[in-house]
Amino acid sequence: MPNSRVRLIAGNWKMNNDVAEAAKLADELAEALNEVPAGVEVVVCPPTIDITTVHDRIQAAPVKLGAQNVYWEEKGAYTGESSCAMLKSAGCTYCIIGHSERRDYFHETDADENKKAKALIAAGITPIFCCGESLETREAGEHVSLVCAQIKAGLEGIELTSADQLVIAYEPIWAIGTGKTATAADAQEVCGAIRATLVEIFGEQLAGGIRVLYGGSAKPENIAGFLAEEDVDGALVGGASLKADAFSAMVEKAGE
Ligand code: PEP
Repeated sequence: MPNSRVRLIAGNWKMNNDVAEAAKLADELAEALNEVPAGVEVVVCPPTIDITTVHDRIQAAPVKLGAQNVYWEEKGAYTGESSCAMLKSAGCTYCIIGHSERRDYFHETDADENKKAKALIAAGITPIFCCGESLETREAGEHVSLVCAQIKAGLEGIELTSADQLVIAYEPIWAIGTGKTATAADAQEVCGAIRATLVEIFGEQLAGGIRVLYGGSAKPENIAGFLAEEDVDGALVGGASLKADAFSAMVEKAGE
């Protein structure tokens, strides 16, 4: 392993699996992942409606639970939203924020992600803060500066006491769900720049412990290449997290 950070393999189920389907997949994951290799942490992020079902099914397995979204207010007239306290009461210790699908389809801004990150950290839930560029931005050669700007804006005013309070996921939009993956060198270029930005914000010691994941058509066949890079500490997995055998194979590879 290129560094001593605990690797994180996180599954993003997106808007897939009704309650019965979620129960089935959670049972399969609990069986396939009843042991997780040393130095690897696993989290699954089902749709909100499935969180309680998945929580009950994976309880005995070394698999953690995350949500896919949160609202920063404590409670009140915010139809359709879930608060940090609600996610916590359902057993979530992680929450994805800033996913490109939320930024694009639901018009979430860096300022929104900043409020979400602050609320989650205050509640003791670790944000998996997503960032990433479009194909147009990459072709213009502006991918590194755009991603670093997303990190600076999204994390503005955040103070950490420990590196495990934050996870970053670099997900080039052109590689999400398209079958096109970035090369390991592409991932390292941006993940390395993210870590340098984290050093500016939080200092060397905290930034050295924050996990930076790659996401975008990651699968059992390509995950090892990403994980061999110095600044890639795991993967945020969409499509391949919907199959227990593929997801557990990725967890195994992360332990090698
Ligand atoms: C994601 O959306 O977080 C993702 C990485 O999806 P996929 O693995 O399907 O590209």
